[in-house]
Amino acid sequence: MGKTIIISNRLPVQLQIHNNDITAIPSVGGLATGMKSVHSGSDSLWIGWSGLTDEEIPEGIAPKIDAALAEHNCSKVNLTAYEEEGFYYGFSNRTIWPLFHYFLEYSEFELENWNTYKAVNQKFADAIIEKANENDTIWVHDYQLMLVPQMVKDKLPNIAIGFFLHIPFPSYEIFRTLPWREEMLRGVLGADLIGFHTYDYERHFLSSVRRLLSLEVSFNDIHIDHRVIKVDSFPMGIDYNKFHEAAKKHNALAISDRTDFQKRIDEHKKSDPDSKLILSIDRLDYTKGIAKRLNAFEYFLNKFPEYKEKVRLIILAVPSRSNVPQYQLLKKEIDELVGRINGEFSTINWTPIWYFYRSLPFKNLIDLYTSSDIAWLTPLRDGMNLVAKEYVATRTDKTGVLILSEMAGSAYEMNEALLINPNNFEEQAETLKKAINMPLKEQKARNMFLQNRLSRYNVEVWAQEFMQALHSQVENNQEVVSRKINDDIIKEITKNLDKAKKRLIFLDYDGTLADFKNDPQKASPDEELYDLLDKIHHQKDTILFLISGRDKQTFSKWFLHKKYNMITEHGVWISRNGEEFSLLEKVKNDWMEKILPVLESFVDRTPGSFIEKKNYSLAWHYRNTDPDFGQKRATELNTVLTSLTSNDSISVLDGNKVMEVKSSNVNKGRASVRMLGEDNYDFVFAIGDDWTDEYMFQELPETTVTVKVGIQKTSAKYFVENTKKVRELLKIFTD
Ligand code: UDP
Repeated sequence: MGKTIIISNRLPVQLQIHNNDITAIPSVGGLATGMKSVHSGSDSLWIGWSGLTDEEIPEGIAPKIDAALAEHNCSKVNLTAYEEEGFYYGFSNRTIWPLFHYFLEYSEFELENWNTYKAVNQKFADAIIEKANENDTIWVHDYQLMLVPQMVKDKLPNIAIGFFLHIPFPSYEIFRTLPWREEMLRGVLGADLIGFHTYDYERHFLSSVRRLLSLEVSFNDIHIDHRVIKVDSFPMGIDYNKFHEAAKKHNALAISDRTDFQKRIDEHKKSDPDSKLILSIDRLDYTKGIAKRLNAFEYFLNKFPEYKEKVRLIILAVPSRSNVPQYQLLKKEIDELVGRINGEFSTINWTPIWYFYRSLPFKNLIDLYTSSDIAWLTPLRDGMNLVAKEYVATRTDKTGVLILSEMAGSAYEMNEALLINPNNFEEQAETLKKAINMPLKEQKARNMFLQNRLSRYNVEVWAQEFMQALHSQVENNQEVVSRKINDDIIKEITKNLDKAKKRLIFLDYDGTLADFKNDPQKASPDEELYDLLDKIHHQKDTILFLISGRDKQTFSKWFLHKKYNMITEHGVWISRNGEEFSLLEKVKNDWMEKILPVLESFVDRTPGSFIEKKNYSLAWHYRNTDPDFGQKRATELNTVLTSLTSNDSISVLDGNKVMEVKSSNVNKGRASVRMLGEDNYDFVFAIGDDWTDEYMFQELPETTVTVKVGIQKTSAKYFVENTKKVRELLKIFTD
């Protein structure tokens, strides 16, 4: 196995320059900690921006920086001030960040910033390409680098690439407003594994891929060219032990050894032992809902005035992106709000809000976490929210109440917290009251579950699970590649074909010999196909069967004059040598009158879908419907039909954008096996693209050469990618 290359906007170290000497100090953030198990030893490299633009690096010092970074297995990407402005402050934080957090009105769509974003992503990709080998594993992080996976894949097609998005992925309705939406999706799809914090982000991403790129998505697999890309959710954890142990140490300190900050908090607590401390910690970001929280607090004090002088709200707002205009406005808004609320409610003995606009050192964070009775976190939208997890981890005696916004990714894993809608002040006021009065027993019961989960699924486990999933995805893809028809396999098949005395060939039609069209009647054979089929049909000692779910009328029109052997409606009808179709299977169809109204009701409710009535089956086509909606309806219909058809006489086939109901004793497997029994065939070949062809792949003997069109799960031995490749392959029968 090769080395691991991690790539993120910022490196996990801070550079300090003193008299032309450089030191690199490791950062302590969640990501850096989580990656410790992945980024260790000489077989790992972390590539990112150093935090200094080219203009900020004193002349001649670059080699020293490189050396200092190399000590931490890091390597830098150089960015000019112009690039940093357009790429980071511009496109990343004024386009993607607001859009992905549903702040559509803040999103700027500037072509110049987009071009800089592309150019800088290419710089990051080039930095990887320069250092990487094909057997390395690449892990690309976050929204600043969404184009990097495909840029790397273009140059190193066999390298394993994972991508993790640390922020939400928005619903299709939001994402589609981005002018460069297709390029962004294609950029990410260079990865083999794409990770999100929650299932909802994953589902939004898949929906955009399906709708905007019309790619095939089955469950959480995306099929593109000859690759399968896995999309999955990996909720990021925290370094649980670090917070838990720090809190334990903190609680064991002698009073005199406590921090000055803690001593101030202690004084306050002593002055009014019954009052409750409510804590909120966020970066000063409009997504965090700080202003709304202040308004909700005011609402609470007005609604329940008995809590005046009994509660205190501590707001720690960490400065962030202060050169983006919205952040400056927000700072002003919050300053004013805090001033107004404090002015309105303060008494001689009491200020309702303590407001800190700064970043606090770790030990003071622990002071705050351990001293607060309630953590109140109300982001309007948040990819994860680690503060919620950190607060719970520091509650060593399991007391404390977490009030958390439903809009935070962490809410999905923290069901035992009090979950609120940050826009609902009434609910928040009631919840604050409930939190203030929550019995200790209930607090402990809730936190026990939360702590168990957080300590198990910590950030290290998160990183390892992602890497494992990436490796197994790459292995799966390699397996797929080994089954792809290639020259060696063709040689082997041709050898057996030449030896054979009697050959039998089954060819499915739609999706195999011809591409799907919105109107099935338009998928008629072209001259090239007739020519190919003629040649196969006229081969000596070779019996060709077209085997299809189509009705006999259409196939009569297209092929009867050619005298090809045909099996239609999955095995109901047969025609040989230009004869009229006759029944191959005796089938009952008295079930149709019961099923038809059900299908009709689905047509009424699903615009674009239609029913095809065949002699012995009914097919509901949904190729022309909205893809997500159609799929949803298909699943629904499947459930309805399965419950209606609980007897064995009919079965439901889930085909390629079609659900077909037919008598159970008819399928392509049964029909093909019957044909096989008619002579002593010593070479059998079957090819098809959908679920209905799987019957052939499963029921024909082991020695059959079975080929699937497309890369989905199959019982076939081999696969080819598309109908064009099918036609190339079938030339083996014409030479
Ligand atoms: N944090 C910090 N210094 C502070 C306040 C907070 O380092 O003064 C840390 C906090 O411990 C947490 C992170 O900042 O790990 C915030 O992460 P979160 O997921 O809550 O929000 P984000 O800033 O990533 O949107």
